[in-house]
Amino acid sequence: MTVEQPTQVDTLVVGAGQAGVAMSEHLSKLGVPHLVLERSRVAEAWRTGRWDSLVANGPAWHDRFPGMEFATAADAFPAKDQVADYFEAYARQFNAPIRTGVEVRKVLRNTGRPGFTVETSEGVIQAHRVVAATGPFQRPVIPPIAPENGRLTQIHSAEYRNPQQLPEGAVLVVGAGSSGVQIADELQRSGRRVYLSVGAHDRPPRSYRNRDFCWWLGVLGEWDAEIAKPGREHVTIAVSGARGGQTIDFRALAHQGITLVGLTQAFAGEHVTFRADLLDNLARGDENYLALLDAADAYIARNGLDLPLEPEARRRLPDPDCVKQPILELDLQQAGISSIIWATGYAVDFSWLQVDTFSEQGKPLHQRGVSREPGIYFLGLPWLSRRGSSFIWGVWHDAKHIADHIATQRKYQAYSDTRHASAQADAPALNLSPVGAH
Ligand SMILES: Cc1cc2nc3c(=O)[nH]c(=O)nc-3n(C[C@H](O)[C@H](O)[C@H](O)COP(=O)(O)OP(=O)(O)OC[C@H]3O[C@@H](n4cnc5c(N)ncnc54)[C@H](O)[C@@H]3O)c2cc1C
Repeated sequence: MTVEQPTQVDTLVVGAGQAGVAMSEHLSKLGVPHLVLERSRVAEAWRTGRWDSLVANGPAWHDRFPGMEFATAADAFPAKDQVADYFEAYARQFNAPIRTGVEVRKVLRNTGRPGFTVETSEGVIQAHRVVAATGPFQRPVIPPIAPENGRLTQIHSAEYRNPQQLPEGAVLVVGAGSSGVQIADELQRSGRRVYLSVGAHDRPPRSYRNRDFCWWLGVLGEWDAEIAKPGREHVTIAVSGARGGQTIDFRALAHQGITLVGLTQAFAGEHVTFRADLLDNLARGDENYLALLDAADAYIARNGLDLPLEPEARRRLPDPDCVKQPILELDLQQAGISSIIWATGYAVDFSWLQVDTFSEQGKPLHQRGVSREPGIYFLGLPWLSRRGSSFIWGVWHDAKHIADHIATQRKYQAYSDTRHASAQADAPALNLSPVGAH
């Protein structure tokens, strides 16, 4: 998008992924002058930051903003490029003032005057407010246990594109959230031998009794949960829209040919050890799965809904050998493993935002995105206000809240005392000189 870069702006939004686009829409609706700066292109993460075959984890009717539908069937799972196209079209629809190809390098609070000095790759801007919409998943994290082993190709899931990219041989995929599980499945289907290291996870049914899990989480109020259940804060969610959308069933993946192992513990040379927690992790995932089926059944009964029974959803496949006799250690070379894919998540990076709103651990301090430093806002972070906050449908609502907050602050700042001003206008003119100025 081509927008002139001003030297001053009321509100600067950093990042034009879905969060930046949603922010711009709400600011536009409230008439707040703003500019969005994006270092790459609109929705770049969807365009180039993910693997080739990725489709949205939620159906098109659900994973979208209220103001526009996808051009695909409502129950289809849009491909990643269709998601990127969607956000580009969405931004065009309301003429979002986005300037692409400009990186924000530093934000510093002004002293003795309001606002912030923003250093960008294209010069300095003064902004009254800054919204950090730079994404929930900025910096791929590989845990320190990763071995130093020149024989192995090791990449983060953020760098994975397709099976052909890897050297021949078996692959160890560490992490079984939505990314790890989908990548492991794709690699196994392409003919690779795959080991999948499974930690704690939730695994909702893809659909149950004719409703997608996105619908169930919506009507059951789960997307609106404000905090994760105690002890489940770091539990990943294993879902997939691949091949039309199917429930992630780890036993089915094992019967298909993937070797499941527990949490990856340590490496020593070619030797890797796994925790003896595979059975527990699968059991907790099953518990989560069954709890959703129970809650769905109860919801249907309470509301007298006419949705077909689905008893087969409660049938469990027999435990495969890798679950019955879990592998606790492995010689990577003997197992033919030539690559490790670390599907181990991401961290945020706010090193450019040099203001006083971070904990000692560098965690952003805010309330529903309104930071402790007046004028600084965060958007798109996991659990910013609720479970849905880092997802497409959730970020739109958080952006609305932040835009309202900005509009309210602007009203306070624009206030002038009209009573006092009119009293002064009525009073006889006085020749007021500054005290002591004679
Ligand atoms: C593999 C994967 C699949 C996902 N699938 C789904 C799904 O199906 N449905 C769903 O709802 N959610 C999904 N998500 C979660 C979430 O929707 C995405 O991560 C989404 O990209 C987040 O959007 P965002 O705008 O918050 O951040 P991003 O898309 O990361 O956008 C941030 C933007 O900020 C820009 N930026 C960063 N720093 C600067 C800077 N200093 N100056 C200028 N620009 C900067 C970046 O270039 C980027 O374009 C998925 C996430 C992943 C990782």
